[in-house]
Amino acid sequence: MKIAFIGLGNMGGPMALNLLKAGHTLSAFDLSAEACKKFAAEGLAIAASAAETVASAEVVISMLPASAHVEALYLGSDGLLEKIAPGALVIDSSTIAAATSRKVAEAGVKRGIAVIDAPVSGGTGGAIAGTLTFMVGGAEADLERARPVLEKMGANIFHAGAAGAGQTAKICNNMLLGILMIGTSEAIALGVANGLDPKVLSEIMRRSSGGNWALEKYNPLPGVMENAPASKGYAGGFGTDLMLKDLGLAQENAAAVRASTPLGGLARNLYAAHSLGGHGALDFSSVIKLVQGKAA
Ligand code: NAD
Repeated sequence: MKIAFIGLGNMGGPMALNLLKAGHTLSAFDLSAEACKKFAAEGLAIAASAAETVASAEVVISMLPASAHVEALYLGSDGLLEKIAPGALVIDSSTIAAATSRKVAEAGVKRGIAVIDAPVSGGTGGAIAGTLTFMVGGAEADLERARPVLEKMGANIFHAGAAGAGQTAKICNNMLLGILMIGTSEAIALGVANGLDPKVLSEIMRRSSGGNWALEKYNPLPGVMENAPASKGYAGGFGTDLMLKDLGLAQENAAAVRASTPLGGLARNLYAAHSLGGHGALDFSSVIKLVQGKAA
């Protein structure tokens, strides 16, 4: 299958490599020359532009930061929906506003191009291991067309509902993740301030009723978990500014449907303060710095 892959960041790069390993023919592109160089060295064929990647592609996958990037890519003045062959399938795995996903899907229908939103969960570790969870919005038949491709990058594939529903599921999940990373950070900082060994405390909580994904796979304190971003200077991983974007999407959505999400709102403000403190590009687990104080 001929696949165009656009966006070779922390997530997109390893996802594209898994498709390459599975035997697909890929043409990839990123606006960052550095990202292109990095993944060309890993064997990806890099195109000169996004438009070039989609020439003769049967499937187009995008993994971009936010709504504005996706809207510009597909619907801009030189948008890709004008260049992708009718009959092709577009899988957008970026985490963006559900309304933007619906807008792109509706524009696709007019051109005979099927578009599904398929945001992911599982972090960079899941992207590398090919064990991501996909939350898909769109027609069931289009998900079935996408399934063989998604299976090369993920272990769990859910149909959340119609166009945009994948994004709604994703912001619910990330609102919870944002809250629990702050809660986990507070608990670890409290224990450390009392002289506890953070590795021992983390293991106690992991196996107790406070156990959660951050304690399982993504401990926020450096040195507790060798492969977590915290132990790599909070480099790579899931950027604080991307978490801030997702929590903003959750709050916008909550306002639109009049849902009460007080902890989601507080979490958004805490990540905003952390970003304003100069940590926007660091992995989101660095939010522990906000609560560490001198004791840690
Ligand atoms: P990233 O910032 O590492 O990568 C995004 C890439 O998109 C960059 O390399 C950038 O140069 C490229 N890009 C932007 N506009 C482009 C365009 N028009 N054409 C080509 N390339 C373009 O981000 P990431 O961590 O890979 O995240 C991507 C998406 O996945 C985001 O929506 C994020 O919220 C979501 N996500 C991230 C994680 C994670 O752990 N990092 C987990 C789940 C979901």
